[in-house]
Amino acid sequence: MNKKGCLTVISAPSGCGKGTVIAEMLKINPALKLSVSATTRPPREDDVDGVDYFFLSRDAFQKQIDGGLMLEYAEYVGNYYGTPAPPVEENLKNGFDVILEIEVVGARKITEKFPDALTVFLMPPSKEELRRRLINRGTDSPEVIEKRLLTADKEIQEAVNFKTIVLNDYAERAADEILELIKSYKQT
Ligand code: 5GP
Repeated sequence: MNKKGCLTVISAPSGCGKGTVIAEMLKINPALKLSVSATTRPPREDDVDGVDYFFLSRDAFQKQIDGGLMLEYAEYVGNYYGTPAPPVEENLKNGFDVILEIEVVGARKITEKFPDALTVFLMPPSKEELRRRLINRGTDSPEVIEKRLLTADKEIQEAVNFKTIVLNDYAERAADEILELIKSYKQT
């Protein structure tokens, strides 16, 4: 393989169900490489270190930034989140299609570095549905849920800066649509 892979960024407000959509995409196309981010947020009950995230202290995260090892990073609801550069660069070089599941500030930074990246904003069906999903997830305190909803409002305003907007009405349908978008994007 000597053709470079396609870099796809998927952003969505927290609780929009992007994890489910991405899991569907990986089920349909297991050759996709999902980047594992680093974060300073504490692990949730189901989180596995090195699989869901690399959980780092603020100091360790700062060292990665200083060493130029983060492709992008951003602060989100009080914690750092970032994309470790080496695996992404290696996978793209080897012709694999890479997915970054990141928030909108990071998405903007990726667009500056990789103008050819396909950027997808996953839109929740409604604000009420978003609130319902965040509450049902049962992982965040009411205070954090309110902060995430406020952040969601700002994020939705950024949707126009993405190459495409996909409605997350049903995870399977949204996953199919994104996979088709990647396929046609690679042909252009
Ligand atoms: P959560 O705490 O719900 O796992 O993630 C919070 C937000 O951080 C989500 O919008 C998620 O997409 C975003 N996020 C996860 N990893 C990264 C990353 O590497 N970089 C950036 N900029 N955002 C990320």
